[in-house]
Amino acid sequence: MKGLVNFIKTFNYKDLIQGAAVTFKHQFKKTVTVQYPKQKLKPFPRFRGRLTLLKDENGEDKCVCCMACVRICPTQVIEIKPGKKEGRKTRYPEEYNFNMDRCIFCGLCVESCNFGAIKLNDEYELAQYSRKDFYFNKEKMYVPTPKVEYKK
Ligand code: SF4
Ligand code: SF4
Repeated sequence: MKGLVNFIKTFNYKDLIQGAAVTFKHQFKKTVTVQYPKQKLKPFPRFRGRLTLLKDENGEDKCVCCMACVRICPTQVIEIKPGKKEGRKTRYPEEYNFNMDRCIFCGLCVESCNFGAIKLNDEYELAQYSRKDFYFNKEKMYVPTPKVEYKK
């Protein structure tokens, strides 16, 4: 019986019409695809992107070289050379080197920092052509997150 119904169906184009109706209905729905890379989706607030150093309102290094991030990093990709400056009570990072090549974006460094001196930003286009481009010195660590127009 089922076979007969299927046989009749092939003559009345019911499936074809149903399929066309679904396609037609979706013409008027909001598109769910994103035309990447022209359009980009905003990452979720807890997304963990590139590690970035932060400055305070006076433009000074927030980092005081407590070394908590260095100690907790499971892949040992942070190196800091502490220094002292006149007029500054705490130490500051003379050098802050980060090797993104081996970073696993776990966020432990950020969690361990009691001074809010580092954050994982929302950059996700982190591919590089050369391995050396994964090495960040202090200057490069301060490069702000590029402004991206996200798809609404
Ligand atoms: S996110 Fe994790 S792996 Fe990457 S630098 Fe921080 S602690 Fe290390
Ligand atoms: S935990 Fe924060 S303050 Fe301490 S060395 Fe790392 S970035 Fe600097």
